[in-house]
Amino acid sequence: MNFSAVITTLPLSSQHLRVYCYVVHDQSVSISGARAHTHREKEHTQRKKEREIFCFMDIHSLLWFRKGLRLHDNPALHKACEGAKYVYPVFVLDPWFLAPDLSAPSPGSSRVGVNRIRFLLQSLKDLDHGLQARGSRLLLLKGDPTSIIPELLKKWNIRRLCFEFDTEPYAQARDNKVKEAALKLGVGVFSPISHTIFDPQETIRKNGGTPPLTYQSFCKLIGKAPVPIGDAPSSIPLPEDFNGAKLVDLPSLNDLGYNNLEQEEYTPFPGGESEALTRLEQSLKDKNWVVEFEKPKGDPTAFIKPATTVLSPYLKFGCLSARLFYTRLKEIYSQSKTYTKPPVSLEGQLLWREFFYTASYGTPNFDRMTGNPICKQIPWKDDDHLLDLWREGRTGFPWIDAAMVQLRKWGWMHHLARHAVACFLTRGDLFVYWEKGRDVFDRLLIDSDWAINNGNWMWLSASSFFYQYHRIYSPLTFGKKYDPQGKFVRHFLPVLKDMPSAYIYEPWTAPLEVQRKARCIIGRDYPKPVVDHSVASKQCMEMMKAAYALDKETEGQPSLEDIDALKKKLQGKQLQTKDATAAGQTKRKNEKESSSSSGRSTKQQRKMTDYK
Ligand SMILES: Cc1cc2nc3c(=O)[nH]c(=O)nc-3n(C[C@H](O)[C@H](O)[C@H](O)COP(=O)(O)OP(=O)(O)OC[C@H]3O[C@@H](n4cnc5c(N)ncnc54)[C@H](O)[C@@H]3O)c2cc1C
Repeated sequence: MNFSAVITTLPLSSQHLRVYCYVVHDQSVSISGARAHTHREKEHTQRKKEREIFCFMDIHSLLWFRKGLRLHDNPALHKACEGAKYVYPVFVLDPWFLAPDLSAPSPGSSRVGVNRIRFLLQSLKDLDHGLQARGSRLLLLKGDPTSIIPELLKKWNIRRLCFEFDTEPYAQARDNKVKEAALKLGVGVFSPISHTIFDPQETIRKNGGTPPLTYQSFCKLIGKAPVPIGDAPSSIPLPEDFNGAKLVDLPSLNDLGYNNLEQEEYTPFPGGESEALTRLEQSLKDKNWVVEFEKPKGDPTAFIKPATTVLSPYLKFGCLSARLFYTRLKEIYSQSKTYTKPPVSLEGQLLWREFFYTASYGTPNFDRMTGNPICKQIPWKDDDHLLDLWREGRTGFPWIDAAMVQLRKWGWMHHLARHAVACFLTRGDLFVYWEKGRDVFDRLLIDSDWAINNGNWMWLSASSFFYQYHRIYSPLTFGKKYDPQGKFVRHFLPVLKDMPSAYIYEPWTAPLEVQRKARCIIGRDYPKPVVDHSVASKQCMEMMKAAYALDKETEGQPSLEDIDALKKKLQGKQLQTKDATAAGQTKRKNEKESSSSSGRSTKQQRKMTDYK
């Protein structure tokens, strides 16, 4: 047997598909005799031979699900089925992600909160149902996929391994290991792009080898979007015998070791392709809403009926194809004389997703400050106490705390609420490392997405993409503008449910008598504010200014020593965070000044978020 690896474009059911493929060369079908051919002819022969291998042998295909938990618009599934005698649809439950961590700040593993684990289990169940309707089923195994998949290739005599291309560094390392093992076994590997609409590698190539770093330049490069390839075949052939492979049943949370969850409030968004498709149709039913959608105008405090689609967790797990979503939007736009445009439209939102995927794929160390060429080096504080208060929703600012409780309970929050809490933790008030906040989001969000999360945290901390660090959201006035009665706050922070509306966003300013009547004494039942926003935000701006100046001075390459020296210099001006009473004593007048300087008017605040 003699193998070699090539990357090529194969004719699939869709002409638009770029497929990354390790082609097997068996000696019996070797193309070595084609030496005299031109390069193009060689490729042609190669593809012909490859088709011969796959069409005339009894192909066993392994379809490895990771993301892409769907049957619609799934090119890896189509390829697995093409001329196959048997298709083995596999998902590997990896304890690295799933094992409970009792020391974690909330239920879940060290990396994934329980809400997202539950969402995944629901998605797998739904996928299994879909496969059963086609005469197949989902084959579940438990362990490290880099050893399990190669074992299965041998055990099941697999000739073709199919899985969706994944751009994340963790996935790339994992997939490269598996590809290498498959290559050694002479197995053909098909890894099509279907998690994103566009091919990030292709966009980077069109941009001369580096990723476009502005949304506008990205949009100019992408060209026409490929269309979805339709539903899965109506019948997917499953063998009867699995040759002793250790298949497991779909576990419940309890089976995974998550007991004592009675107190937990779960996300109202269940996982699965069926739910994703229903939600897509519901979101697009009101065509006026679709054509008039402008992200910055949405109400981040709307929670009974959120102001956006809440399709992000379905896109994250691939229960919904981004191409399908995009195509459906385009159909609706084509039926309307006018419609909103990117970046604020719904189409624009999907393009933000594509933008961050492309930027992250082409940027080394995209998920950290150090060694990341597009990230400003800022002397953030390494203060776990502040981080804990923020994560637990105990900063004393009801708008921030309610949003953080929503994150913990629902695993989701509106985009502008994400803006508010991310700005507060970093450049707005607490000056804590953006990577720490990113980690909290990464663990708790049901839509947690490596490229989008890191990209947005860099944006919000003014570390990359966005540099107007003096534009700080006020934790006092932002929520109030949308929800003056504080319904959102009362729902997620029931301790404040009887606080009069006049004090709901600044309860420490309520006279003691009012606090008593509301059965909520500030400093006892609900915390005093952790900082005085008017002071903290000014200090943050000064620190950002100094960091930007150093960045300029060193032409974007300050050394670790430079950063350290700046950190020390700024220490004298450290934030006043220890004594919350200082903030409690701050006069309302000061707070008003703060909201007019950094809080700004509704109009101005909306303008700040104009980009999305
Ligand atoms: C600090 C921070 C962290 C974030 N982390 C994530 C994350 O881990 N995963 C995630 O999916 N989104 C993240 N976002 C982006 C955005 O907030 C969510 O995608 C959006 O709120 C999801 O709700 P939706 O599906 O109703 O969005 P809609 O407004 O209905 O948009 C439709 C889809 O477009 C995409 N989209 C929307 N906004 C953005 C954006 N700003 N950047 C990239 N894609 C976007 C999403 O896939 C979304 O589902 C983050 C934003 C911020 C400010």
